Amino acid sequence: MSLYARPVSKRDYYEVLGVPRGAGPDELKKAFRALARELHPDRNPDDPAAEEAFKEAAEAYQVLSDPAQRERYDRFGHAAFEAGGGPGPADFGGIGEIFEGLIGEIIGGRRRKRQGEDVELELTVSFEEAALGAEKRVAVAKPVPCATCEGSGAKPGTAVRTCGQCDGKGEVRFQRRLFSTNRKCAACNGSGKKIETPCKTCRGGGLVEGEETLAVRIPPGVEDGATRTIRGAGAPGPGGNGDLLVTIRIEAHPLFQRDGADVLCTVPVSFPQAVLGDTLEVPTLEGSVRMKLPPATQSGRMFRLRGKGIPVYGGMGKGDQLVTILVEVPEKVSRKQRKLIAELADELGTETHPQRQSFLTKLKELLE
Ligand SMILES: [Zn+2]
Ligand SMILES: [Zn+2]
Repeated sequence: MSLYARPVSKRDYYEVLGVPRGAGPDELKKAFRALARELHPDRNPDDPAAEEAFKEAAEAYQVLSDPAQRERYDRFGHAAFEAGGGPGPADFGGIGEIFEGLIGEIIGGRRRKRQGEDVELELTVSFEEAALGAEKRVAVAKPVPCATCEGSGAKPGTAVRTCGQCDGKGEVRFQRRLFSTNRKCAACNGSGKKIETPCKTCRGGGLVEGEETLAVRIPPGVEDGATRTIRGAGAPGPGGNGDLLVTIRIEAHPLFQRDGADVLCTVPVSFPQAVLGDTLEVPTLEGSVRMKLPPATQSGRMFRLRGKGIPVYGGMGKGDQLVTILVEVPEKVSRKQRKLIAELADELGTETHPQRQSFLTKLKELLE
């Protein structure tokens, strides 16, 4: 066994970059840029796997982009660089430019001053409000600019200077082996300012706990658990406000249930109503309607009230209301009622109940 065992799983450089062996310089560069953009530590903070993959791609590109090194690699494979323990760090200068360009591209957007925190809120609405839409006023507890110092963090009358550590950017460049990345400036906690005498009310932070009343629009047909984002309604920050994220919760309704855009409702009726038919008063989202119950309606039968449901969320049209009839059997009967029902039963016989009769016939056949 060799004392100098080398990693057996070192991947082929062409495979690492995902290019064919005959790839030209432009193709190599394009492949590497795409990988570097995807794996850059600014996009994958504290992800050792991404960092390893980034280093692997950088090494592959470093070798293949250099004609002399590429030729050696093509002839001898990874063995070409074994004696020197891998491609020399001096050659890394060649890709430094690309890194600089990439970093600007990747974190260009993030160099802006930090945005304030997002604020989350749960808002409970009634069944009807969720179905038909509403506008709700909500009090949002969130940090607001301090009134004493008008959000500057400095005691009124004292100076606010630019932070010398980060030059007012709120971020400092941080060199980590191959690449550099931006970190929040510790000296000013990302504000970019240096405060000589902190404001006593907010201890220099510029923000205090406060409350803001906002109108939140509930769109018709919204589903339970849906989230609405109100841009800029979160906590303030040097680079603008964060967002307010509102999660909508829908209260249970005493008579209605919901199935997507359809409203479900069960209406109990008496045995005589079910036998003789009746006109029922049925509640809907837009007030009660009269519904005809035909004679001989069986328990469990469902009636569809077209267009009496909920607007289809994010779509066209409306759902229906589905009315299920439940024939209710009397629970407590008086002596007189019992007598009358017994008489009725005799009178009705079995012919009036075809389903029961059919059941009894089949049962008899089964037992024979
Ligand atoms: Zn203050
Ligand atoms: Zn600073």
